[in-house]
Amino acid sequence: MTEDFRKLYGSAEGVRVFRAPGRVNLIGEHTDYNLGFVLPVALDLATYIAAAPAAGGKVRIYSEDRREMREWRVSEISAILRARHWTDYPIGVAQQLIGAGFAIEPANLLIRSRVPEGSGLSSSAALEVSSALAFLNGRPLPPIELARLCQRAEVQFVGMPCGIMDQYISIFGRERTAVEIDCRSLEHRDVELPAGITFLAVNTMVKHALAGSAYRDRVAECAAAVEGIKPHFPQLKSLRDVSPEQFESVAHRLPEGIARRARHVVTETARVGRFVSASEHGDLHRMGRLMVESHRSLQHDYEVSCAELDFLVDRSLGIEGVFGARMTGGGFGGCTVTMLQPDAVPGFRQEIAESYERRFGVTPAIYPCEPSAGAGEVKNFETIPSAGH
Ligand code: ADP
Ligand code: MG
Repeated sequence: MTEDFRKLYGSAEGVRVFRAPGRVNLIGEHTDYNLGFVLPVALDLATYIAAAPAAGGKVRIYSEDRREMREWRVSEISAILRARHWTDYPIGVAQQLIGAGFAIEPANLLIRSRVPEGSGLSSSAALEVSSALAFLNGRPLPPIELARLCQRAEVQFVGMPCGIMDQYISIFGRERTAVEIDCRSLEHRDVELPAGITFLAVNTMVKHALAGSAYRDRVAECAAAVEGIKPHFPQLKSLRDVSPEQFESVAHRLPEGIARRARHVVTETARVGRFVSASEHGDLHRMGRLMVESHRSLQHDYEVSCAELDFLVDRSLGIEGVFGARMTGGGFGGCTVTMLQPDAVPGFRQEIAESYERRFGVTPAIYPCEPSAGAGEVKNFETIPSAGH
């Protein structure tokens, strides 16, 4: 990576490399912005940024994926407006850092990402967190502040009202464990997964145009549900505060559409706890069933699935050695996550790829989901090959 950096910028003096992983969420979908629970895993797939101090008062950023270079004077960064361009992510982060008292130093950055974009594996958070580390260049910031700052960049600058899951897991991910995050207290605990299972993400290779606007609609619908339930549960601040039983006692008072959205969030928040408990008991079949329940809830109540995701889930469930499958990420395309026996992986890969190709005419990319470490500096970065290698 240093060699490519040198070719691009003429010198690699003082270069450091920072890594931030993508993630796959095992269960707890669309619960983070309702301050509920989620259970993601940080992936081996990550975004790497090589960064070195530069003369000339400018920040330059090159994205290998986009083959595009942009530059700004450091003095003008705080006044840049949203451009609806990939640079919104690093610039949003830079502005948040400035707001938190960290000056942005002149530097050259090279972005190399292994996280597929727009696939529900959170390339956006991987880009935000790696950008933040690159701009900080070793200056310390408590990890939880880093997560909140990157989330604010996405909400306030990019304009996506996301929860904190993606940034949090990219920072707090750990090898061999999933992480159960309480999105209100911002505490987490590592959840060791039972032996005898593995997870694969299968990419539909589509992202429907609806994704962004529907996400905003769902956030608004959840807020409407909170307003509708409050008169009956005055202590309620977010959907995370009602149990499924409490919710059903008031559901009939909400408009039907809003009640279905809320029902997903309320049952899904409860499902995270049930999944963790099944995992702790080594009840693999129950874990699988809960994943399928989660998918049906997203499909019918939350209505964020699509034909491609439903096909992958339904087809996966018919393949030998599969315990469960569900869509993962925001929806309307992107990936499913499938839980299966390790020795069933080769057969699964072949069958799911063939079926999907036959049905949609595209080959789905398939990614192993080995729980990996969270973000940090990479010391041994000569080994990060360029994309396509
Ligand atoms: P997801 O987070 O699921 O991958 P998002 O729509 O939230 O999908 O974020 C994808 C966006 O993040 C891309 O459209 C692009 O703007 C930005 N992005 C991610 N990775 C890169 C990269 N390597 N280079 C440039 N932009 C990137
Ligand atoms: Mg994203």
